[in-house]
Amino acid sequence: MHQSYTENGTADHPVSLLPSMKVHELQGKNSAMSGSLLVSTFVGLLINQVKSSKAAQGLVGLKNLGNTCFMNSILQCLSNTHSLRDYCLHNSHRRDLNRTNTALMEEFAKLIQTMWTSSSSDAVSPSEFKTQIQRYAPRFVGYNQQDAQEFLRFLLDGLHNEVNRVTVRPRATTEDFDHLSDDEKGKKMWSKYLEREDSKIVDLFVGQLKSSLTCTECGYCSTVFDPFWDLSLPISKKGYGEVSLMDCMRLFTKEDVLDGDEKPTCYRCKARRKCTKKFTIQKFPKILVLHLKRFSEARVRSSKLSTFVNFPMKDLDLREFASDRSSSAVYNLYAVSNHSGTTMGGHYTAYCCNPDSGEWYTFNDSRVTPMSSSQVRSSDAYVLFYERSGL
Ligand SMILES: [Zn+2]
Repeated sequence: MHQSYTENGTADHPVSLLPSMKVHELQGKNSAMSGSLLVSTFVGLLINQVKSSKAAQGLVGLKNLGNTCFMNSILQCLSNTHSLRDYCLHNSHRRDLNRTNTALMEEFAKLIQTMWTSSSSDAVSPSEFKTQIQRYAPRFVGYNQQDAQEFLRFLLDGLHNEVNRVTVRPRATTEDFDHLSDDEKGKKMWSKYLEREDSKIVDLFVGQLKSSLTCTECGYCSTVFDPFWDLSLPISKKGYGEVSLMDCMRLFTKEDVLDGDEKPTCYRCKARRKCTKKFTIQKFPKILVLHLKRFSEARVRSSKLSTFVNFPMKDLDLREFASDRSSSAVYNLYAVSNHSGTTMGGHYTAYCCNPDSGEWYTFNDSRVTPMSSSQVRSSDAYVLFYERSGL
C-alpha cells in the first residue's frame, strides 16, 4: 500500500527561492559596476525573490484542530482549485455576497488569502473557518472524524448559498417540457435551475445528469434532468487486482432494471411497468468531483474497500458517458483527497498540483512536502478533482 506520509519534512522551508550565488556571479562578471547600480540590482533581485516566492505560494499547511484532517484535506484540494482560489484572491466574492449570511464565505476567502499570500510557511490554523462551518452545519461541531466527501458537499453548499446571485427565488412552477426534444428539455431544466441557484460555485462544480426511463412494455422513454455537484462512483469488483476509473464510470451509468416495488408509472401505458433506467451526462461541469465509494455507508462505515482504482492523471475522456456523444469532455486531474487506514481509524491527506508551478505536493495537516506525480495514484485515493481541459 502506498505510504502517504513522509517525515523528512522540508515543509518548514519548502523551496529555496533565491539562488544566492547569482549575486556573486553578477559581481564577478561586472566588476566595473558602480556601487549604487549594484545596490539597485540587488534590490531588483529581492523584488524578483518576492515575485518568484509568489509562484510557490499556497504551500502552507493547516493545523490539525483534533481529528480535522478530513477538513484540511478538502480545504487543500479547494485551495488548489485555480478559479476558486482566484475568486477569493481577487476578492471577487465580495461582489456576490448576500446581505444576510456571509461569514462562511468570508472566513473561507480569508483562509485562502492567508494560504496564498503569507510570507511565512508556518502552518495556518483554520479555527475561525471551523467555527463558521459548524454554525452552517452543526454536525461538524466537535472533534469527531468525519467523511471528507460529505464535508465537501456541505461546504460547497454553504459557500454557494452565501454568494448566490439569486436573491429572490421565483415561485416553483410545474411547467411541462415533455413536448420538447431531450436536448431542449435539458437546456430548459438547466435554465430553470439557474433561476434559483446561480453562483461562482455552480459555475465551477455543477453539472447535469440525464436519466432515461424506458418502459419495457411499450418502449415509451421519459427523461429527467438533475443537477449534480459530484458523482459517487461504485467501485466495480473484478476479482483480484485493480479496476479502472472507466470501469467505475461504466458501473455508475450501467442500465438498471426497475421492477417489483420500484416499478414506475409509464406515461403512455398509464400503469406501473417494469422499466429500464440509464444515466448519461447532459452537461459536464468545469470541475468534476469524483467520489470513490470506498465506504459501505458514509455514516456507519461498516467496511472499506481498499481496491486500487487506476485513474488517469491526464486526458480522462468521458465522451462515452455523454448524452450527446459529439460534445468533448476531457479532464485533467489536479487534486486528490486520500483516506488511509480503516473504517475504525483513518487519516486524510491531500495530493495537489500547484496551479502556478504544475508541481505536485503532499498536504498532511501542517506538513507540506514535494512529491512525484508518479506517486499520486494509490489505493488511498478517495475524492478526485478533475478540471475540464480546453476551457
Ligand atoms: Zn409503457
